[in-house]
Amino acid sequence: MTLVSSTPLLQAARANGYAVGAFNVHTLEMLQAVVEAAEEAQAPLILQSTVGTVKHLGAEYIVSAAETAAKRASVPIALHLDHCTEFDLIVQCIRAGYTSVMIDASMFPFQENAAMTKRVVEIARAAGVNVEAELGKVGGVEDDIVVAENEALMADPDECRRFVEMTGVPTLAPAIGTAHGIYKGEPKIDFNRIQAIAGLVDVPLVLHGGSGIPEEQVKRCVSLGMAKMNIATEIRIVFSDAIKAVFAQNPDENDPRKYMVPAKKAVKAAALEKIAMLGSAGRARDFK
Ligand SMILES: [Zn+2]
Repeated sequence: MTLVSSTPLLQAARANGYAVGAFNVHTLEMLQAVVEAAEEAQAPLILQSTVGTVKHLGAEYIVSAAETAAKRASVPIALHLDHCTEFDLIVQCIRAGYTSVMIDASMFPFQENAAMTKRVVEIARAAGVNVEAELGKVGGVEDDIVVAENEALMADPDECRRFVEMTGVPTLAPAIGTAHGIYKGEPKIDFNRIQAIAGLVDVPLVLHGGSGIPEEQVKRCVSLGMAKMNIATEIRIVFSDAIKAVFAQNPDENDPRKYMVPAKKAVKAAALEKIAMLGSAGRARDFK
């Protein structure tokens, strides 16, 4: 298969009560590990990169690796640009072959956020590319975007409805109490807010800050309409911990294959766990 837009993946997920795992990858091995997990579980998959990773690796390299994965895989795979605040970089990634982009203008007032999102929706639609936008402000640190806990803002359900109507955005990430990074204690998810938003907005909803949310809370979010969950920090940690463990045992190790193999295995295991939690295992069948 070729890379697909994430729009049909997420619409099917919302319609059938499961969510697609969207994994932030930073290296070829991380990408291969989540693809292997999705393949083994027969789950649709979204590969993601942040703006920082695009600048680190280059959009073309990321697209090439993702396209190769999609060509070899029997499950549908989309490639998404996470949290982008720059219009030009969005255009560059769409040109390079990304099939999904996030315009994050959540730091601007409502009207401005809507205007920027609408502009991105128009160019993405012409290219058959999905768009995700954020309302409210998700707390925590994601690349260069830092939102202090007291500045995090929940999305207003009625604003969500107006935002989707005004912009035509096909997927929406409303801030509902989750945060980027690792939680100190349990996240304070506002389930009533998710329910209210899902009741007013029929596009698939996106759960940011998926690392470390307890399983039963993830399942509740999914049952209420969250159709995509972003997982970044957690797979970065298991990847790095596996490498650290190799060096703790053998500080002189200098063959990247020796430490990348266990790192890959750790990411695959973590991805399989998330896929099971999200209910997307076996759901590749929805696209055959
Ligand atoms: Zn996020």
